[in-house]
Amino acid sequence: MAKTAKAAVMTAAGMDLAIKEYPLPPVDRGCILVKVTCCTICGSDVHSWKGRRTAPTPIILGHEIVGRIAALGAGVTHDSGDRPLSVGDRITWTIMDNCGKCYFCREKGLMMKCRRLKKYGHDSCAQPPHFVGGFADYCYITPGTCVIRIPDGLSDEEVAPANCALATVIAGWEEAQVKPFENVLIQGAGALGFYAAALAKHYGCRRVIVTDILDHRLDFIKAFGATDAINVKGMSAEEVVQAVRGLTDGFGVDCVLEVAGIADLIPTGLKCLRTGGRYVEIGNSAPGANFTYDACDIVWRRLTLKGVHNYDVRHLQAAVDLLAMTREKFPFKDIVTHRVNLENINDGLRLADSGKAIRVAVLP
Ligand SMILES: [Zn+2]
Repeated sequence: MAKTAKAAVMTAAGMDLAIKEYPLPPVDRGCILVKVTCCTICGSDVHSWKGRRTAPTPIILGHEIVGRIAALGAGVTHDSGDRPLSVGDRITWTIMDNCGKCYFCREKGLMMKCRRLKKYGHDSCAQPPHFVGGFADYCYITPGTCVIRIPDGLSDEEVAPANCALATVIAGWEEAQVKPFENVLIQGAGALGFYAAALAKHYGCRRVIVTDILDHRLDFIKAFGATDAINVKGMSAEEVVQAVRGLTDGFGVDCVLEVAGIADLIPTGLKCLRTGGRYVEIGNSAPGANFTYDACDIVWRRLTLKGVHNYDVRHLQAAVDLLAMTREKFPFKDIVTHRVNLENINDGLRLADSGKAIRVAVLP
């Protein structure tokens, strides 16, 4: 194996990433060295690159990663589902390495908020093992990470967004406690919206209503099970609420999932809920997303508002399972719309920031 490998490194927010070489680390006990085969660009990578949220530097961004095992550390024999692991196997893994022993991991079931949390694509790459993000030739997986071997039928591009976008949507779905035949509103027809619509369809929801302002995305989301795709450009909040009530016997939806990351959508979404409805906020993952709402409406109409950031291991396994079970039913393979190689990562980031792409894949 080579002694060094390449990574696209961000040294300051707003600057182009630079290709650097780092020494490949020795593979310690419990660790895995992975040859990255695909990493998709998540909205939060773009937020970090643009400086809309702070990231330590230097950093290798990228956390929606798929790769093949290049070397297994001592003691690593099976994945989280007890499937045997060998060199050459394709795997995905949780966005985080968590300790399993702290207050949040052990007592509160919030492994994604571990007090000794490490997150791929979020931590500095200054120190060895360096390869802790996805925009690189290799990624070094540490023992607190849950690894999942990928079923043969799924492509890298189908699976890569699972370990952030889809797993997070599934975590939000669990919090929403949606039941069959309920009506759901999804605010945002981006990658998370497509996954949310597919879940709603798969779970047997009655109305799967989606709002966005881009017609081509609203057309595409129908293939993921949306029953009603509404272009809300130019519509007032009251008009949106009336449209949603008109589709739900005048009551409003049982549940809203906000996946556009636009704080202004929240008041409208809350008003679209039926009495007793649940609102799950997923999209606003950069600070400054303020909104104003009449708390009396939350009280009188018994609304629930819940925030979801990242996910637990079971949600990543469910994400892989959902893809494997429904890949013939929904066009997950078309979520990656553009591809760049590692050398052209900056073009890829600009494309992702432009909104023209749904997901851009970086293929080392
Ligand atoms: Zn992400």
